Amino acid sequence: MINYIIDQTTIERLRALINGVQRIVITCHKSPDGDALGSTLALCHVLRRLGKEATVVTPDMAPKSLEFIPGLRDLVVFTRQELRAKHILNDAQLIFCLDFNSLHRIDRLGELVAPLKAKRVLIDHHLNPEDIFDVVISHPEVSSTCELVFRVLLQLGMLQFIDRQTASCLYVGMTTDTGGFAYSCDSPEFYEIMSLIMRRRIDRVFLYNKAMNTFSADSLRLQGYAISQKMQLFPEQGASLIALTKEELERYNYSRGDTESLVNKPLAIPGIYWSVFLREDADKIKVSCRSQGSFSVSDICARYFNGGGHENAAGGDFIGTMDEAVAKFHQVLADLFPDVPAQPVEQQSQQDNNNENEIE
Ligand code: 5GP
Ligand code: MN
Repeated sequence: MINYIIDQTTIERLRALINGVQRIVITCHKSPDGDALGSTLALCHVLRRLGKEATVVTPDMAPKSLEFIPGLRDLVVFTRQELRAKHILNDAQLIFCLDFNSLHRIDRLGELVAPLKAKRVLIDHHLNPEDIFDVVISHPEVSSTCELVFRVLLQLGMLQFIDRQTASCLYVGMTTDTGGFAYSCDSPEFYEIMSLIMRRRIDRVFLYNKAMNTFSADSLRLQGYAISQKMQLFPEQGASLIALTKEELERYNYSRGDTESLVNKPLAIPGIYWSVFLREDADKIKVSCRSQGSFSVSDICARYFNGGGHENAAGGDFIGTMDEAVAKFHQVLADLFPDVPAQPVEQQSQQDNNNENEIE
């Protein structure tokens, strides 16, 4: 049985809002991922089936690797079609904000959305949403915004509108936000929802491989380089750091999405329970963190990197040089582990340690 976790009064307010409008915009966070795109496109499909004029407007481009998601070609990308995006937004009677909790997560689009008269509906699973939404459906305990969109549709009594295409979109977000069913999916209800998605006869193997196991040769080479040459381990603090400069990224013809799951890789090493990835972008250093267990990287990102996220998956930005960003990481180590010297263990010496253990 799938419990109704969303307050039914909220659902009825949402129903009334949808019934009262025709033109609807759905948006998501910048650098959209599988969950952001899957949830917005799924909701868009359903609203169109209800006869609404629904449009997904994203703050920036989707990565090429996610172009397989059904409906992605219809996106209005703000950085590419600014005038069109402005027109659609100004004309909108209702705005859905999916998979983000604060307007600064949608960049310059946020400045456009803030003054609009249209009502704003939040559907999201990040902690601490900003107090700027008219309807708030915020559930950090669920796996993904896609799961939450499914639950909204369930409670609205609209499951019949989830066709194969919509189910495929929802599957993508529930897969990518759980690292391919590795974390954030302990609730039995997650699988009950998945079973209803499977009943729509989605092409699961195709979607899983596209979402989780498809990388360009350049991307694989870059990841290999990052792990073999750039990964620094701090076993005493259970930490790993990978920092890639613009020059290194360019060497491997980096394009957006190429380092998508890299930050997770060091967590495969026994004893490493949090991982930081620093990537030098045009105007900032992008920070990406992952952890296991109760170690909260969202706290670290909020405190040191102007960001946030979930306990085990968070991110932020650093304005400055890569050396300064690395120094900031060392400051985090020193603050959290004041009694432990922050020396990375070189891979070779780790190897030696392992060999010693074997001899014993
Ligand atoms: P990723 O490491 O995949 O970029 O992001 C992981 C999670 O961290 C995202 O789902 C989002 O919750 C959070 N996150 C990433 N970047 C930022 C950021 O710049 N600001 C905030 N507040 N959260 C972020
Ligand atoms: Mn998400």
